[in-house]
Amino acid sequence: MNEFSIIDTYFKKQALHHPQVIAGIGDDAACVKIPEGFELLISTDTLVAGVHFLPDWDAFDIALRSVLVNVSDLAAMAAEPVWASLALTLPQNDQSWLARFSAGLHKGLHQYGMALIGGDTTRGPLTVTLTVYGLAPAGKAVFRSGGSPGDLIWLSGPLGAAAEAIEQLKAHKQPEKALMDALLYPNPETGIRKLLQTYATAAIDISDGLAADLCHLCQASGTGALLFADKIPLHPLTLEYQGEHALSFALTGGDDYKLCFTTKASDEQTLKNAAAAQSSECWLIGVLEEEPGLRVETSSGLSVLQPSGYDHFSG
Ligand code: ADP
Ligand code: MG
Repeated sequence: MNEFSIIDTYFKKQALHHPQVIAGIGDDAACVKIPEGFELLISTDTLVAGVHFLPDWDAFDIALRSVLVNVSDLAAMAAEPVWASLALTLPQNDQSWLARFSAGLHKGLHQYGMALIGGDTTRGPLTVTLTVYGLAPAGKAVFRSGGSPGDLIWLSGPLGAAAEAIEQLKAHKQPEKALMDALLYPNPETGIRKLLQTYATAAIDISDGLAADLCHLCQASGTGALLFADKIPLHPLTLEYQGEHALSFALTGGDDYKLCFTTKASDEQTLKNAAAAQSSECWLIGVLEEEPGLRVETSSGLSVLQPSGYDHFSG
């Protein structure tokens, strides 16, 4: 099988047809139509074997997870996922690996109604780079920079499950299924897109840990933040395994892909009602403050939080 039959068999055949795609896979560049009144949001994530996943992971999981983490970035901007392109570097032409990869990729893309519109296929160390394209009504995308002192900080779900899985894998234990699923198949928060478009002043998805990612939001917004320790939802298994350390573990553990977002204080009840009306849950966990830095209010007082999340170039 050569490069072109690989592209045809594993990528082109299963690609969704999308009314706004004028030319997809097969030409020198994809051509798409941006509907009037919408803005285009673009995000790229690279997964490198040995860094973001282990080379012996099932190719299905590698591909599916790659879609999910990319969709999470669009969810954080309140954009609807529409298209994707894939740059794939492969050490060898392994048909069964490609078949598994293709199945996971298209499962993820189809789940979010996304058309695969192009990419590149090369030989080298296993690397998966997915670029996703999303649409938001003009002026409705949500940025990290829109928060102000006094805004409320919300979280879209409990933290710590994926980090717990990683912790156990590092200790050569086999994490239970609920933890492995949290790590392998994060659930991008696309369901609260309209809520974010209507109420959010700023948002970020939690890939590197709440402390680090909230810090990014604060820096972009020119604020600091106060978190209420007893209001931060933690995954029950993280509580079980980490005990009294569960909160600090969850604050610095990554890969949750929940959303952290802010709203005006006056929208507190409206947001709660709107979330309840669509059976979404959002936890109010803190407030943006003028003073830079992160602080956590616990029963024993106030402590300053170091934003130590994952950084590829630290140390
Ligand atoms: P060119 O040589 O003109 O750059 P390529 O041979 O790289 O074209 O790719 C041929 C077509 O297949 C292009 O439309 C490209 O976008 C698409 N393509 C290549 N690799 C992939 C892939 N892994 N997934 C999806 N589309 C791909
Ligand atoms: Mg090319």
